[in-house]
Order: sequence, then structure tokens, then C-alpha cells
Amino acid sequence: MIEHAKRESPLECCGILGGRDKTVERAFELQNAEKSPTRYSMSPSEQLRVFEEMEKESLEMIAVYHSHTHTIPFPSETDVKLAFYPDISSVIISLKDEKDPVVKAFQISKEAIYLEEIEVTS
Ligand SMILES: [Zn+2]
Repeated sequence: MIEHAKRESPLECCGILGGRDKTVERAFELQNAEKSPTRYSMSPSEQLRVFEEMEKESLEMIAVYHSHTHTIPFPSETDVKLAFYPDISSVIISLKDEKDPVVKAFQISKEAIYLEEIEVTS
């Protein structure tokens, strides 16, 4: 995931994390349809492909991730507006300090943003 972010930088990258019991088992890389350094969007057809693949492997969608190439790992106004899946975590990878990428997870709802505890195991 961090590799993906670095590869796409300075553009934002995005993807979907699938797993079981709140544990991520696979990261699916998606194209940033916006090809932008400040925002991202996932094409519906690519999302569908990932959903099908997760279904095949009996994985659940746990989170959506994207990168911030120049800003801190906190959801931007656009991220809040675009938080389409209220039950899904939003993971943000910040490459602000290129040598020390920071990964944070949030629960974004219309009313508030909650920072979630995550454990990076691999
Ligand atoms: Zn963002």
C-alpha cells in the first residue's frame, strides 16, 4: 500500500482493503480516475471488479485507502464529502515526509471524523 502510494506520487493513489474479522488480508490497487495530486476517485467498473474478486475469495471490504502526497494524514474536506461507505474505514497514507510515511485510519461520517486504532502487521 505504501509502495503503491510512492509509485503514484505526486498523484494520489487509491485502493480497497479486503479481509476478514477486521483484519486486512489483501490490498487491491485501483487507478485514481482523477489523476490528480489533491484528490482521487475510483471508477465504478474497477470497484465492481474488486468486489467480484473479494466475493470469490470470501473477503469483506474493510477499508478504502488513498494517499496524501503533500499533506498530513487527515481527511480533507473532499474526502469527507466523498466518504461513500459510512461503515468502511478510510485509510490515508501521508507521504508528506517521504522518508517516513504515516498511515492512519478514520471513520468518517457526516457529523464527525473518528481516528481509529490500527495495527500494522506487515
Ligand atoms: Zn484525501
